[in-house]
Amino acid sequence: MERFDVIVVGGGPAGLSAAISAARAGMKTVVIERGDFPGTKNVMGGVLYTQPTEQVVPEFWKEAPLERPVIEQRYGFLSGDELVTATYRDPAWAEPPYNAHTVLRVKFDRWLAEQAIKEGVMIIPETVVEDLLYRHDRVVGVRTGRPEGDLGAEVVILAEGVNNFVAQKAGLAPKLTPDRVAVAVKEIIALPPEKIEDRFCLEPGQGATIELFGDSTAGMLGTAFVYTNKDSLSIGLGVILSQLVASKLTPNDLLERLKAHPYIKRLIQGGETKEYLAHLLPEGGYKAVPKLYRQGVLVVGDTAMFVNGLHREGSNLAMISGKIAGEVAAEAIKSGDVSEKAMSVYATRISDTFVIKDLYNYRNVNHFFESNPHFLKVYPEIVADSMRMFFTVDGVPKRERLKQILSNAFAKRSKGSVLRDLFGAWRAFK
Ligand code: FAD
Repeated sequence: MERFDVIVVGGGPAGLSAAISAARAGMKTVVIERGDFPGTKNVMGGVLYTQPTEQVVPEFWKEAPLERPVIEQRYGFLSGDELVTATYRDPAWAEPPYNAHTVLRVKFDRWLAEQAIKEGVMIIPETVVEDLLYRHDRVVGVRTGRPEGDLGAEVVILAEGVNNFVAQKAGLAPKLTPDRVAVAVKEIIALPPEKIEDRFCLEPGQGATIELFGDSTAGMLGTAFVYTNKDSLSIGLGVILSQLVASKLTPNDLLERLKAHPYIKRLIQGGETKEYLAHLLPEGGYKAVPKLYRQGVLVVGDTAMFVNGLHREGSNLAMISGKIAGEVAAEAIKSGDVSEKAMSVYATRISDTFVIKDLYNYRNVNHFFESNPHFLKVYPEIVADSMRMFFTVDGVPKRERLKQILSNAFAKRSKGSVLRDLFGAWRAFK
């Protein structure tokens, strides 16, 4: 049986970052990836944040296959055909050090895998890890689906993404439940760059993102998005699976509705759908984080439920957790101690980062929105009504109009309920 210091299960951002940091620390490292190559199986909106990525590959933006630097972020509420948005734009984000870029994962993950190979990592594609190997209680490697495919290791890092079957088999993670995952679909729609720039008011090469709440997901907990790539748009949405099942709608119904919305229709007009992708997304947050370590094993990225859906962050949490796991694995192996206690250093270190701090901070947010569905149904309506009334000029004096706006809002949601909602929201976010 071939032996390694570190075996990484899964070649997404978490696994590749773990492999890079372990290899840099001198570890004989292998990544086992079930796809034809890293990236083929992976889906993301996809906004890639600069600062966390630089911690894995400094100045990656000089070489990596990036689409566009994001200079504009727009948040919007859809209510029927109406739309209310808030936009932030800063052209300085088109220059280094950048805040974020759009990426297509099939290209980016492949490039990140090449960086791992340069660091000495071996990548074994088209191979599924089926289980961990144990000697007594000790994890000593992995069993793959290949004949004679057992591989030995001092430490195994589980970076298998949201479908964390190996972690489940190992008793580290519970079974996924429909209230803890979102189902997401996405289309890549080809458009000439000049059309993208015209439609999004961008200079050549610049990028923009739109996040939409409310009717974009039929009032269910989730978001829709439109991101600009070099010569395509990524358009998609994700919705909590339990709510989608109850709604009897399919993700495709929702995506077709979104594409037909008057605002979105104009953005994608004349484009040609090149790809259709679907994936699950962890949405359990802090309360769903599984056990992150045991003797000889560490859990990173989506496998560890490290996604902050509200801020559209997942790849950055994956990379930071992977990097720390690779470092902890190398330190433990060098010190000759891969016991559970030695592995627990990973949990301590990750707790000191934004990864756990943010998840902890938002630990009640999903539950709050799930148990208060009016936030994504009634409030978008109230906001749209209020804006329509505010902008309508029809001879009604402004003080009178303000009274109309308030009385319309409180007819849809009573004053007492609004106060309770504000208090509830404050508690959920504090
Ligand atoms: P993954 O990227 O899922 O990688 C896991 C890898 O493991 C895959 O390559 C898979 O093939 C492999 N694998 C799985 N099981 C096995 C096995 N048993 N054996 C071998 N290989 C295995 N995040 C952002 O930061 N920005 C965004 O804009 C954004 N948008 C998103 C939009 C959508 C529609 C979705 C679904 C997610 C989005 N995310 C976004 C989240 C982000 O994609 C994930 O958080 C991130 O990909 C997690 O990385 P990972 O390496 O943990 O898992």
